[in-house]
Amino acid sequence: KATLGVMGGGQLGRMFVHAAQRLGYFTAVLDPDAQSPAGLVSHHHIQTDYNDPAGLAQLADLCQAITTEFENVPAQALQTLAQTRPVAPGAAVVGIAQDRIEEKDHFAACADISGVTCAPYAVIETPAQLQAVLEERADLLPGILKTARMGYDGKGQVRVRTASELAAAWAELGGVACVLEKMLPLTAECSVLVARGWGGQVVSFAPQRNVHVEGILAVTHAYEGNMPLALATSARDAAIAIAQHLGYVGVLCVEFFVVDNGSAHGGLVVNEMAPRPHNSGHYTLDACDASQFDLQVHAMAGLPLPQPRQHSPAIMLNLLGDVWFDASGQQREPDWHSVLSLPGTHLHLYGKLDARVGRKMGHLTITGPDVASVKTVARRVAELLGLPGLDAI
Ligand code: ATP
Ligand code: MG
Ligand code: MG
Repeated sequence: KATLGVMGGGQLGRMFVHAAQRLGYFTAVLDPDAQSPAGLVSHHHIQTDYNDPAGLAQLADLCQAITTEFENVPAQALQTLAQTRPVAPGAAVVGIAQDRIEEKDHFAACADISGVTCAPYAVIETPAQLQAVLEERADLLPGILKTARMGYDGKGQVRVRTASELAAAWAELGGVACVLEKMLPLTAECSVLVARGWGGQVVSFAPQRNVHVEGILAVTHAYEGNMPLALATSARDAAIAIAQHLGYVGVLCVEFFVVDNGSAHGGLVVNEMAPRPHNSGHYTLDACDASQFDLQVHAMAGLPLPQPRQHSPAIMLNLLGDVWFDASGQQREPDWHSVLSLPGTHLHLYGKLDARVGRKMGHLTITGPDVASVKTVARRVAELLGLPGLDAI
């Protein structure tokens, strides 16, 4: 009986487990939380710290191959597992994606083949570097100061307009390693999912267009015509080049900004990458003949990687814990009955026991025969549930 392992027990791990189980695999999840969404549905739940040598040994012992669903799993733990089992993605590439400074170095290193660069930035790791940036890099203001490590969903980021705001923000973030990025005039954002196998074969999904509200993904538009074709082609080619250059194995998501650079379609700027399936790819579960999680299973287990095909236009709406509270702050169950009475609504709830504002509790994918009907239903759903980003559907 073959078992696949995953480091991390969040919703991405849960959807990975579902995909693995559908193919007949047993699964093992390592996560310290007894109630983790993936641990709750897995055959084995090793409930321990990511660094615990005994837990890692147990995971390696059980599993044919191991992946990660959580980008802040210590790269060292993946290194340990890789001594005895195939681990995809590997410790080295996860380590790069965990650190914005290394990530940007990688993007710069393959800019010639990817055709994209990142936003102008400066590294601030020491008071001396802060001083130098304050004195010499006025061109980066207004900008966003981002911690180099551990940030997600816009956490660990401060928007700064002036030199004094920058100095205060660096102190507020605790004086840790940061990058200051120039604030760009975004016209849109998109992301691309790439899957690469051990032998170097690569498949990818068409780019999805993403709408963020307060730094958190709110809406994903996944259908032909969601962005100009020239941009979509460049983004897809760039993501593949970035994955190839890393020697990546597994599913990689690359996020891009679209900026107004005066050209007909705007310019593409690479933002960051996630070494795993991604929130913006959840529509693939319901709108494609293979999902991003299916491809992760195939890639790590050494199964073939056929090019996935999208069979329906789709819009994905994220469900944050906010939806579980009414205007007076009283907790309530959202009106699923009304939502599910609409055609083509696919509700995914992650089995998290407590709803909190800003916490990702689930998502909804709306599919339909054409883009216009998908948009109509998505708008109706967003109205019913009071979701952010309604004006962007
Ligand atoms: P994720 O949850 O995607 O990992 P994160 O916390 O790593 O998010 P980023 O992707 O760096 O954060 O930024 C979050 C959002 O903030 C972006 O999707 C974009 O909307 C906005 N943003 C970030 N950097 C810039 C920039 N340089 N110029 C303009 N907007 C930006
Ligand atoms: Mg990020
Ligand atoms: Mg991001």
